[in-house]
Parts: sequence; structure tokens; C-alpha cells
Amino acid sequence: MSGFIEFQNVTKEYINGDEVLKAVNNLNFTIDKGEFVVILGPSGSGKSTLLNLLGGLDHVSSGNIMVNSHDITGYSDNDLTEYRAHEVGFIFQFYNLIPNLTALENLELISDVIGRKIDGKSMLDRLNLTEHYHNFPSELSGGEQQRVSIARALVKNPNMLLCDEPTGALDSNTGDMVIELLYDICKNNKTTVIIVTHNEDIASLADKVIHLKNGIIESIDTKLDDGNADSIDAEEVLS
Ligand code: ADP
Repeated sequence: MSGFIEFQNVTKEYINGDEVLKAVNNLNFTIDKGEFVVILGPSGSGKSTLLNLLGGLDHVSSGNIMVNSHDITGYSDNDLTEYRAHEVGFIFQFYNLIPNLTALENLELISDVIGRKIDGKSMLDRLNLTEHYHNFPSELSGGEQQRVSIARALVKNPNMLLCDEPTGALDSNTGDMVIELLYDICKNNKTTVIIVTHNEDIASLADKVIHLKNGIIESIDTKLDDGNADSIDAEEVLS
């Protein structure tokens, strides 16, 4: 088994007194470059834990996570900081924008993280936010704030976008537009997009759906490869 991302027997335990809780338990799966993947499962099934381990925000208890043939579970804290800065774009349910900075300033902050200048205006233009360079988050709708957070994630040109309930705070139409945008980014840029959700509708677009329950993979559904995946119309599938 080999892919751009490979989980090998990955377990994460939390110890609470005498009890050991396996938040994820012996996960094995692969994800290819440019795949649009949905991690589906009820609350408490281990979805965020999986995403945090892959994003280098947390450490495994056992097992290995290979990314681009590197085992990130062997990374030092400095290596992980580099990995997060350059390889991974994070998108969260509540956007995590800095409230007292404008949309453009929220993007420009990333320059410090990655150590090179970025073109924040072009990225905001790409996400139809040209009118909003100088707005503060509180002056933007939920959908606009999420688009700023997607722009902030993309401006680093990461290999993967990790999205934790990206539509959880949006109404369903705006949520669909955000998913369509993530799908287009995935297919146009070949950016691997991984979305954690309990919303089954999003799964209909996915190349791969990993079903989690109680920290265990119940099943993995892979879209039948008809060689035609790029031509799927995200808007049609979601409507
Ligand atoms: P999901 O994202 O699917 O809602 P999580 O990954 O957040 O699930 O949590 C999986 C399980 O691990 C839950 O039972 C949760 O209570 C537990 N858990 C998550 N983080 C911690 C933590 N820091 N300490 C103890 N238990 C945790």
C-alpha cells in the first residue's frame, strides 16, 4: 500500500485515571495526491483526532503516518512546525480569523509563518473577495469569513487542505458553495482536500469516504474510477 498519505496502524490513546480511551484505534488507509476525501462519523468517533494527527497538531500513541514518503511521527517539534507551515492548510468550523485584522492583514500574517512574501490581494481576488480587502471579520458574512480562511490556507500553496467541519457554522446554501469551492481547488490545483464532517451530503462528491465509528474505520468507500472524476459538476451533485 502506498499513497501520498498513509496511515499505518495509527492509535491515539487518552488516559483518564484508570481508563484508557482509544480516540482512534488502529487506523489503516491511504490517500492519493489530489483526492477529495471525506471523513464521516458521528460526534466522538475520532474525526478531529485523525485530522489533528495528520496535521501535526498532536502525536500518535502508536503507528506511523507517512506523508510524501516521510514518517511525520518521527518528526521533532521543529520539523512539525515546518511541516505545518509549508505542507498543510487548516480550515476550521469557526474560521479562526484574527478579529482586529482586516481580511488582507489576516492573509499577510502568513508571510511571517512561511518566511516569504505572499500576494494576499491576488488570493482574495481568486476567491471573489476583492471588495473586502479592508473589512474586518465582523463586517463579513459567515460565507465570506470562511472564504477568507480558505484564502489564508491556500496562500501558502500547501499540498493538503485539512478541513474540520468547514460548513458547520453556515446555512446550507452557503455551505454548499464552500464545498464546491473546495472541490474546485482540489481538482484544479491537485491539492489533496480532506474534510471531516457528520454531514452525509458532502460525501456524495468524495473520491473516498472513510467511515469512522468509536475510533475504528467501519468502511472505506471509493468512487468507481470511470476516468471522468474531473468533470463532475459539484454544484449539480450538491443541489
Ligand atoms: P469527533 O471529532 O469525531 O467528534 P474526537 O476526535 O474529537 O471525535 O474525539 C474522539 C474521542 O476522544 C471522544 O471520546 C473524545 O471525548 C476523546 N478525546 C478527544 N480529545 C481528547 C482529549 N484531549 N483528552 C481526552 N479525551 C479526548
